Amino acid sequence: MKIGLFPGSFDPFHNGHLEIVERASKLFDEVVVAAVRNPQKGTQLFDLEERQSLLVDVTAHLPSVRIVAMSTLTVYVARDVGANAIIRGLRAVSDFEAEMQMAQMNNHLSGVETIFIPTSAEWAFLASKLVREVWRFGGDVSAFVPEPVAKALAAKYEEEREEQ
Ligand code: ADP
Repeated sequence: MKIGLFPGSFDPFHNGHLEIVERASKLFDEVVVAAVRNPQKGTQLFDLEERQSLLVDVTAHLPSVRIVAMSTLTVYVARDVGANAIIRGLRAVSDFEAEMQMAQMNNHLSGVETIFIPTSAEWAFLASKLVREVWRFGGDVSAFVPEPVAKALAAKYEEEREEQ
């Protein structure tokens, strides 16, 4: 059985991520999507538990997809879930350098391979950071994220406004 591990911050999970999960699920018998706590990315929008539960909702139509949360090295998670490869999406040349470095480091650490799936043109501009910026100023992000994420974002926006 071939298992692919798709790790990411997914804060929030958007349509570009979903497309990669859907395409990866055609290549692997099982795809494990891992929500990662990444302290380097600054303040988080959704905590890890919220992201995990949203991931479960948005991948409910994909029976071969499993969700986990992690705050450890990706290679340890790859080992624990028995992954044959780490899956990463590639948007543009700007992603390439960091992704290449990470893939080489992970291969040195554990021998695990990384498979890159190129983004479709439709979602190439999409990044979680951009969605967060539009959302923070009250912009409509519903075209860029799956419905459960759009609802969670709207609820969080109201919550934060009430706190102010
Ligand atoms: P990370 O913190 O690991 O960079 P992200 O949540 O930003 O996490 O991204 C997770 C994965 O999804 C990465 O492989 C990234 O390249 C990929 N990705 C991000 N945005 C897109 C997009 N618009 N289309 C396809 N893949 C994407």
